[in-house]
This record gives sequence, C-alpha cells and structure tokens, in this order.
Amino acid sequence: MDRAAPSGDATNAASPPSFSIEVAAATTARSTFVREPARCGQMPVRLALLAHLRGMLSLLMEKVIIVGSGCAGLSAAIYAARANLNPLVLEGRQPGGQLSTTTLVENYPGFPDGIDGPQLIINMHDQAEKFGARFSYAEATGLELDNKHVRIKADDEWLETQALIIASGASARYLGLENEDKLIGHGLTSCATCDGAFYKNVPVCVIGGGDSAAEESLFLTRFASKVYLIHRRDKMRASKIMADRVLANKKIEPIWNTVVTKYIPDEKGEMRAVRLRNVKTKEERELAVACVFVAIGHDPNTKAFAGKLDADREGYLIAKNLAESKHPGVFIAGDVADRVYKQAVTAAGTGCAAAMDAERYLSELER
Ligand code: NAP
Repeated sequence: MDRAAPSGDATNAASPPSFSIEVAAATTARSTFVREPARCGQMPVRLALLAHLRGMLSLLMEKVIIVGSGCAGLSAAIYAARANLNPLVLEGRQPGGQLSTTTLVENYPGFPDGIDGPQLIINMHDQAEKFGARFSYAEATGLELDNKHVRIKADDEWLETQALIIASGASARYLGLENEDKLIGHGLTSCATCDGAFYKNVPVCVIGGGDSAAEESLFLTRFASKVYLIHRRDKMRASKIMADRVLANKKIEPIWNTVVTKYIPDEKGEMRAVRLRNVKTKEERELAVACVFVAIGHDPNTKAFAGKLDADREGYLIAKNLAESKHPGVFIAGDVADRVYKQAVTAAGTGCAAAMDAERYLSELER
C-alpha cells in the first residue's frame, strides 16, 4: 500500500525525519512516565512496560483514517486536515465515488451554472490535499473493534487508528440476471459517463425510473441513435424537472410497465438485445440494443464492516446524532448510511459532521 508516514508535518506528510524526531521526543517523555511509578512501587514493571509500549503504539497509530473518497469522504478529509489531524484517506479502487461517474451537477450549492461531477471531486481532493490529507488507493477489507481500539485492514495491511470515518458510499445495483458478470463491460454497464461515447449511432436502453435513469438517458442522447427508457411502472420516480426533460426529448422512448428478463449476447459475447416483459399484459418481446445502462439504485458498501456496526435490513449503517456509530471513535458519513436523501450536499454535510465529531473525540482522548 502506498501511503505517507503517519503524523509529522501536515503539509509534507511523507517526510520521515519529522516523524522520527517526534517519536524520539515522545519516547523520552514516555520513559519518564514509566520509570516514575516503578520507583514508587505502585505499578509492577511489566505493567509499566505495557503502558510504555501502548504509548509508543499510539504514536505509530494514525489519528484519523477515512474510508472512501466520494463527496462525504473528501468533505471529512477537508475538515480533518484543516484541523491538523493529517488524515489518511483510503480511496478504494474507484476513487471519487458516484459523483465521478456522473455528468453535470446542477444542485450543488455555489455553482449557478452547475459543475461536472468529476470536476467537483477533483476540486475537493485538491482542497483536502492542500490542508495535508494523505491518499492511498487501498481498499478497506476488514475492521476490528475492541473497546477504544480500532484496526482497519487496507488491502492486506492492518492499520491502527484512533478515529475512523466510514464514508464508503454505495455501489450501483444490477438486476441479477444470467450472464451479468460476463456482460459487464461488453454492453452492460451502470455508468453512462464512462461508457456512453462507445455507443455512437446505435440504439441503447436505460433501466430505471429515478433521477439516475433520467440523467443517464439524457446524457446518452448525445451519442446513441435511440435511447429506450425501460421502467417497471407507468410513471417516473425522478424529480419533476428531470422527468419533464426526459419526456420532452424526442430521442428518448419510454417503455412503461416493463422489465428486462434476459440479456441476449451475440456470438462474440457483446450485448445484442434484451428480452422484455410487460408486467401488466405479460407480453414478451425482444428489443435490439447495443448496450444496457442499469440505473436502478445502489447498495451500501459495507462488506468490510459486516457485523461490526449497527446496520438496517438493507445493510445501510445506522448513525445516531448525524455521524456517530455505536463504537467510540468510529464515525459514519454519506450514502453508506443514507437511504433517504442520497445527495452530494447531504453527503458533504455528514462528512463535515463526522470529521468534527472525530476531532472532538480525539481532543477528549488527549485530556
Ligand atoms: P432511485 O431513486 O432509488 O430510483 C431507482 C429506480 O430504479 C426506481 O425507478 C425503481 O423503480 C427502479 N428499480 C429499482 N429496482 C429495480 C429492479 N430490480 N428492476 C427494475 N427497476 C428497478 O435511485 P437513483 O435514480 O439512483 O437515485 C438515488 C438518489 O440519488 C435519489 O435520491 C435521487 O434523487 C438522487 N439523484 C439525484 C440526481 C440529481 O439531482 N441530478 C441524479 C442522480 C441521483 P420504482 O420507481 O418502481 O421504485
């Protein structure tokens, strides 16, 4: 895992000398502490040694680790870094979260003409880095909680941290049909921004009726000859402004009350068509499409934390007072705990709250 050394100068976090000096200075301080109780005979030497080692360990520990680099994780990183906590952000394999796969974001405050999702993410990343946040592509794969002790597994390496902010977001949901895994990347995707341009002048379809489906459909009209919007109901769930835009676009043809029951690949394994079923009439038919864009919502990314923190039936983590988990020192932010709002601005807000809670928790530890 590539990451800078913990602690040290926030603006030059990778600098080993400043870290060594800090450890040396603190070790001296701890040694004094250990010798004293042993001399009074109030604490057995072994216990004193243990306390000494624990002190050393806390210096080697990260102060704050943030899991996730979407809107929530980066907002937490900005606040934690600006509070001089020198946070380490585990970005995961797909840095940037959902905003990095979206197009124009029109409702993030402060951008009257909108801002591209990936650009907003780059700006947040730069802002966090400017204040001393450190980044690693490692993915959180495990968590150990024991009293005040927090260990997070980053790829294969266990890291100790005093505070942890979980902002691991949510991932696109698929239908769970046959051959799905094989077809992803071969005409099956959940990201129009990533893959839309590969499908010029050919028919494609989008599955879903929410804001994501609306956004993806509109974006795809730039490339595809035709965009079928396949929705299981006869009305969109998307916000009115988005639904109106979709329905007014001549390139988009909604197919209501319909579900996809099968993906049909060609002999090369690329998407050729989908099998449709009308849920009212039960009528079935085949629709030729070169690519299927699935936009049916998301599932929270909580695999690494399974069973360790409170979660609801669908796996969303449960936060109290906005960003607190049931475990001291562990905080939660963004879509991983949001089954209602799921907006960039709410994710940013809870990221801020989590970092401020973490900062307060760390100052109480130091008292
Ligand atoms: P969503 O609002 O949950 O919509 C998911 C859609 O997929 C619904 O229409 C749902 O149908 C359909 N669906 C779910 N499971 C399905 C299945 N198994 N088979 C077929 N269809 C299925 O998800 P989203 O569109 O990703 O939006 C999530 C949140 O992000 C929302 O709060 C949204 O407002 C927000 N968002 C905002 C913007 C924006 O403001 N620009 C852009 C994207 C997302 P039903 O309608 O029948 O439930």
